[in-house]
Amino acid sequence: MAAAPALKHWRTTLERVEKFVSPLYFTDCNLRGRLFGDSCPVAELSSFLTPERLPYQEAVQQDFRPAQVGDSFGPTWWTCWFRVELTIPDAWVGQEVHLRWESDGEGLVWRDGEPVQGLTKEGEKTSYVLTDKLGEEDPRSLTLYVEVACNGLLGAGKGTMIAAPDPEKMFQVSRAELAVFHRDVHKLLVDLELLLGMAKGLGEDNQRSYQALYTANQMVNVCDPAQPETFPVAQALASKFFGQRGGESQHTIHALGHCHIDTAWLWPFKETVRKCARSWVTVVQLMERNPEFIFACSQAQQLAWVKSHYPGLHARLQEFACRGQFVPVGGTWVEMDGNLPSGEAMVRQFLQGQSFFLQEFGKMCSEFWLPDTFGYSAQLPQIMRSCGIRHFLTQKLSWNLVNSFPHHTFFWEGLDGSRVLAHFPPGDSYGMQGSVEEVLKTVAKNRDKGRTNHSAFLFGFGDGGGGPTQTMVDRLKRLCNTDGLPRVQLSSPERLFSALEGHSGQLCTWVGELFLELHNGTYTTHAQIKKGNRECERILHDVELLSSLALARSAQFLYPAAQLQDLWRLLLLNQFHDVVTGSCIQLVAEEAMCHYEDIRSRGNKLLSTAAAALCAGEPGPEGLLIVNTLPWKRTEVLALPSPGGAHCLGLIPSSGDSAQHGLCSCSHPHLTAAPAAPAACVYSAGASADLASRPPPTKTDGSVTLDNGIIRVKLDPTGRLTSLVLVASGREAIAEGAVGNQFVLFDDVPLYWDAWDVMDYHLETRKPVLGQAGTLAVGTEGGMRGSAWFLLQISPNSRLSQKVVLDIGCPYVRFHTEVHWHEAHKFLKVEFPARVRSPQATFEVQFGHLQRPTHYNTSWDWARFEVWAHRWMDLSEHGFGLALLNDCKYGASVRGSVLSLSLLRAPKSPDATVDMGRHEFTYALMPHEGSFQDAGVIPAAYSLNFPLLALPAPGLAPAAAWSAFSVSSPAVVLETVKQAETSLQGRKLVLRLYEAHGSHVDCWLRTSLPVQEAVLCDLLERRDPAGPLPLRNNRLKLTFSPFQVQSLLLVLQPAPS
Ligand SMILES: [Zn+2]
Repeated sequence: MAAAPALKHWRTTLERVEKFVSPLYFTDCNLRGRLFGDSCPVAELSSFLTPERLPYQEAVQQDFRPAQVGDSFGPTWWTCWFRVELTIPDAWVGQEVHLRWESDGEGLVWRDGEPVQGLTKEGEKTSYVLTDKLGEEDPRSLTLYVEVACNGLLGAGKGTMIAAPDPEKMFQVSRAELAVFHRDVHKLLVDLELLLGMAKGLGEDNQRSYQALYTANQMVNVCDPAQPETFPVAQALASKFFGQRGGESQHTIHALGHCHIDTAWLWPFKETVRKCARSWVTVVQLMERNPEFIFACSQAQQLAWVKSHYPGLHARLQEFACRGQFVPVGGTWVEMDGNLPSGEAMVRQFLQGQSFFLQEFGKMCSEFWLPDTFGYSAQLPQIMRSCGIRHFLTQKLSWNLVNSFPHHTFFWEGLDGSRVLAHFPPGDSYGMQGSVEEVLKTVAKNRDKGRTNHSAFLFGFGDGGGGPTQTMVDRLKRLCNTDGLPRVQLSSPERLFSALEGHSGQLCTWVGELFLELHNGTYTTHAQIKKGNRECERILHDVELLSSLALARSAQFLYPAAQLQDLWRLLLLNQFHDVVTGSCIQLVAEEAMCHYEDIRSRGNKLLSTAAAALCAGEPGPEGLLIVNTLPWKRTEVLALPSPGGAHCLGLIPSSGDSAQHGLCSCSHPHLTAAPAAPAACVYSAGASADLASRPPPTKTDGSVTLDNGIIRVKLDPTGRLTSLVLVASGREAIAEGAVGNQFVLFDDVPLYWDAWDVMDYHLETRKPVLGQAGTLAVGTEGGMRGSAWFLLQISPNSRLSQKVVLDIGCPYVRFHTEVHWHEAHKFLKVEFPARVRSPQATFEVQFGHLQRPTHYNTSWDWARFEVWAHRWMDLSEHGFGLALLNDCKYGASVRGSVLSLSLLRAPKSPDATVDMGRHEFTYALMPHEGSFQDAGVIPAAYSLNFPLLALPAPGLAPAAAWSAFSVSSPAVVLETVKQAETSLQGRKLVLRLYEAHGSHVDCWLRTSLPVQEAVLCDLLERRDPAGPLPLRNNRLKLTFSPFQVQSLLLVLQPAPS
């Protein structure tokens, strides 16, 4: 026994222990230096380099060339396959033998044709256990393959992590050898590091801290690294210390293995497939070695990839899921963005996700898992509850730049009043390492101390995958119950949430959205992705509706269920939280655009097929099938194809028809209905364009007035809006002395997260873009549409052209905009100062809307200087308001009386090319009397986003207009009509409706379809046990509360044969 410590110096004692375990200092004589014993080089190393991501079977057939340690390979995104021939020395019998492998890039070891472990220096996985104990009879020689991807865990950024990837990066293998591993040394190292962690973390005024320090010091005293026979004494000291238990009141930490894998981000989708394999195969190994270790795994898409690319691994995951060690969580197809996807798309995330989890793992998830998303819609609680989920986990709000979120465990109440139990791991991370510091932080930072005594602790390398290591598991196991620290359990999400539920009586409630006070640029970055998202949501909506109608009306029609599932899954994939947000590299953006193109082209084909089915068998003239896919009557000017290839305008429907969620035919391709009075007319001051029925104006100042009898729009000679008047009341919507349609440019230089962040201070750099007089041109088309057109030079490099359009009968004026955008770190917005005063503005969100302040009173108010909205926002005072609609934008703000729509950004990281080039988008302005609800802002925004369809009718189109569904209340929107998932190829439809005004309402749904039975169902399309609803004369009564979403299952009568 060594002498008792004589001195009391804290620092020297602490640093002495640190040096004893240091990987940097004194490794010639310290304990760390003894972790590995004898070593020998691998017998033979050869390699094969390829730009492709080949399957194993194909790769191993290739021509491998001799290689050696020190070789470099690359460049970025290539793959180097190494064949590693091993011969273990006979002298190592009885020892634990590892392959030590260190290289840049991400490696995967293959043994006997199956992946067995990830090898990634960044993820602290540099050694593969060949045998725990080499037996006399064990084979000494074997061949392994190591597949090394030429990218790091976090891609290949040039210089900094989020810089655009360096395509020329080269990679190197720096170690490939066999070595004897000393498990007893490893255990001592884990103990000493934990003791050091306690000594430092508990601090010099804590008794237990000194006990930890002196225990560690004593261990160093008794332990001679060169003499393994001294180790047990040191180990006994540690065991005695860690065996001293905490009290009954100790906080409990639920340690959950996790591995956040971004479905695409700084690497392409295809690399994610391999990241999943590398990470999860390592997890399988950990689950085998540690039966108490539990791993929570989200994102059905990733599991689906593994199922198709690595079926053997998938089978193992299923096996461990049965044992309760591998726990699928989240319930969604991918961890989607929480702001931008439509309500229906969010529903589909769960519908696709939960059905996959049920099919592959025998049960659905009971918690929504979204640790890393940039804000959370106020409709999520309702969607979760209706998808069988009552629990929610995230941590991202800890990134708030301004306000610190006040809870870690709380009830989250959504827009409609639905509640879920929410938990944010108080350690503010989803990638813990199992250190004492993190354990202490989890307890110290918990903002619900005294209300709940349980917390989650997610450990494992994340973002780019990697996952937990054996060392992390060893640390956490050692801390199961030690005085001075919280209790640590290797736990499951289910155990965590049931423990939290046990304390829920004292929890607080947060109502409304969980707004992230950071990453607000992601509402705007990558405009083409945003546009693809909005457009494809529309296409899938229309395809489902038309296909459902065709199914109902035609015995021969086959609903394209499988194709629609494919297309939905592509759209859902693109809604991943680093794709639709625009925070990905160029490679990913290109792939995402291909996905959208796929949805467009296949979706449009499906539309034509459904249209053809609807036309078959009905008497009527050939021509066009005009389809209104919205659930209310519409009268709109529509561009129709004419024989010469040009378009001409028609007013749809012609008098007498009603296009109401259904069809009307158009017997002649260039229909021109006589417009109902008043006609659109255009005044052009100083120009000769006199195309209206009214006399030309007399003004000579170059301004233009568009007037359709509903609104009167006045533009100055540079295209700015000087006046917008509701004709009937004469009420002016533009603020006195101000101009609308004012483009403004801001400097947009964030602190770090370029594609993600727009900072508050950008507002201080506002510069109006001033146009030149005389660029305004005017036109009218067919007496139905008035327009004015102008050019605007935004900067020396960027220009904009805009067509301001007013149709007869239309309550809003549209601004069709084309921009050629070539900027760096600039932000383009358009502003509309309104003659409206209100402390709050309204923004559309999923299945509803919410209010946000128009002032900067408190830090919570000004932190929302840039917010998101879907198709419309509105600023109203009593009796009057102004709504701003859009067809593909999401970033917005209302400050004071100024409505502002965010149009284009120009960040350079991680995609240096993002948003450069040509853009097209439309926004519209709608002044209104009364409330926006009563004035029809919501249907107007739908109309802008869902144009009437004019589809070629190859056969005979229905002779008369025909409507499939109508809803008696304007407050209720019939959002979705689709075939039921559970009855593929069956005659069952699902209808989704929601209350959009924020009111309690009873309404009647009427249908002309042959409905046999109607029953309410949840979002996963499970029947309401209360049974069928009374159905009389094809009418159903439905009762809604504010923003409630309801789904209906309609069983159709058998098709007429
Ligand atoms: Zn992420």
